[in-house]
Amino acid sequence: MEQKAYIQLEDTYGAHNYKPLDVVLSRGKGVWVWDVEGKRYLDCLSAYSAVNQGHCHPRIAAAMAEQLEKLTLTSRAFRNDQLGPFYRELCELTRSHKVLPMNSGAEAVETAIKTVRKWGYKVKGVPQDQAEIIVCANNFHGRTITIVGFSTDPNSREGFGPFTPGFKIVPFGDAAAFEAAITPNTVGFLVEPIQGEAGVIIPPDNFLPDVKAICKKNNVVLILDEIQTGLGRTGKLLAEEHYGIEADLTLIGKALSGGYYPVSAVLSNTEVMGVLQPGEHGSTFGGNPLACAVARAALKVLTEEGLTENADRMGAYFLSGLKQIRNPLIREVRGKGLLIAVEFLPEAGGARQYCEALQERGVLCKETHDHIIRFAPPLVITSDVIDWALEQIEAVIGQKQTYAGIQ
Ligand SMILES: *Cc1c(COP(=O)(O)O)cnc(C)c1O
Repeated sequence: MEQKAYIQLEDTYGAHNYKPLDVVLSRGKGVWVWDVEGKRYLDCLSAYSAVNQGHCHPRIAAAMAEQLEKLTLTSRAFRNDQLGPFYRELCELTRSHKVLPMNSGAEAVETAIKTVRKWGYKVKGVPQDQAEIIVCANNFHGRTITIVGFSTDPNSREGFGPFTPGFKIVPFGDAAAFEAAITPNTVGFLVEPIQGEAGVIIPPDNFLPDVKAICKKNNVVLILDEIQTGLGRTGKLLAEEHYGIEADLTLIGKALSGGYYPVSAVLSNTEVMGVLQPGEHGSTFGGNPLACAVARAALKVLTEEGLTENADRMGAYFLSGLKQIRNPLIREVRGKGLLIAVEFLPEAGGARQYCEALQERGVLCKETHDHIIRFAPPLVITSDVIDWALEQIEAVIGQKQTYAGIQ
């Protein structure tokens, strides 16, 4: 079947809740993906950082194949022989005390919200149903009703109300605004260390250290959503390490399975998780043996293949190459590790045109909001491939071509 026919099937039978590039992929290996017509592309999105380990990593594939012949799902009504080892390996790697496994990122966020509310009532002494959680403007934490209720993106929330009460929004990167929003009923602060979906927004260096101190002083649980920034993406295992802090609750997902399977987790450094009693929270698939076996392999690949260190080195290399591209329509090039953004001025007329031109040249990336392109390839990328990518990117967004396009 031709590419066009697949696209038509999607458009005919599927809900139109995405606007993908018109490329139909059927194969992937490492940093590369191939469309149904055999054309090769460099994946510069990595499924929003879910395939940090590269597409179809053979070690994860082998672990998954082995486990799916043995046992896939027990539910948590019974125990399984993958869960305990998964807990221990994840805790040792992230220096956490306790893990609560879920499936999607949004479920990890919901789990954290439930946990800190319960902690607020049982431990902090907040009056019933008065718990408040503070979040940041331009956040992205997923798509459930509760989560979109505290989004500031009109696309994400309009037409989906009524929403869950109990959330306050403060500007991202402003510790003083956060402190001012705290009341005796504040139980948690939910924040991304770097806002990925907002366009790789990096806060001032003192933001998270200040936030950590303010949380401690006011007995507020600091919840870091590292679903996109975690597991090596920014050149550290967790982005919090750039700022020398530890969250009380850390949310991970996406690359926790290397793209094989939805696996997420809430990691706890404190006694907060201890408030949950049997029957108060759960998930049929959360912590299933197949998910645990896949996640164990995905974590081993990250550490044993030095992918975090590679993200640090290759990220710096890619960023400096992108910064050398001259074009007055570029407002800023920024990033940490392999989470990089090129932001254009509004006069450029949107980033989608560049993504489409890059697709022509075999580089797949996606605009975020109107004027930003995110470059986030799998962490297995090498400098040779980056050199090649930079040539393609320069040809599309370099000065000469842009002016030609505009005139
Ligand atoms: C992707 C993402 C989520 C949601 O994860 P899903 O698996 O899509 O539910 C939450 N937070 C951040 C920061 C994300 O990037």
